[in-house]
Amino acid sequence: MGKMYESCQNCGQDFVIEPGFYFGGAMISYTIQMFMIALGALGVYLAGGTKPIHYILPISIFLVVTTPYIVLVSRALWLSIFVKKED
Ligand SMILES: [Zn+2]
Repeated sequence: MGKMYESCQNCGQDFVIEPGFYFGGAMISYTIQMFMIALGALGVYLAGGTKPIHYILPISIFLVVTTPYIVLVSRALWLSIFVKKED
C-alpha cells in the first residue's frame, strides 16, 4: 500500500521533495475521508440505520478498500500544489 514512483518516469521530476513532504498529503486524505464518512453515515441514517454496527461495518469496509487509492490521489494533489508543469 502507498507505493509510488520516487521520480517522474517522463521528465525525472523528484517526487520526494523533502523528508515528511507527504504529511500535507496525509492531511488531505484525512479531510477527504472524514467528508466521505460523514456522507456515508448520513446515508446510513437516512436508510434507517439504528445500531452502531450499521455504521461501523460499512464504514470500516469502505476505509479498508479505498484508503490506498485516496492516499495516492491525495499525494498527487499535494504534489501538484508545489510542482508547476514545465514544457
Ligand atoms: Zn514528469
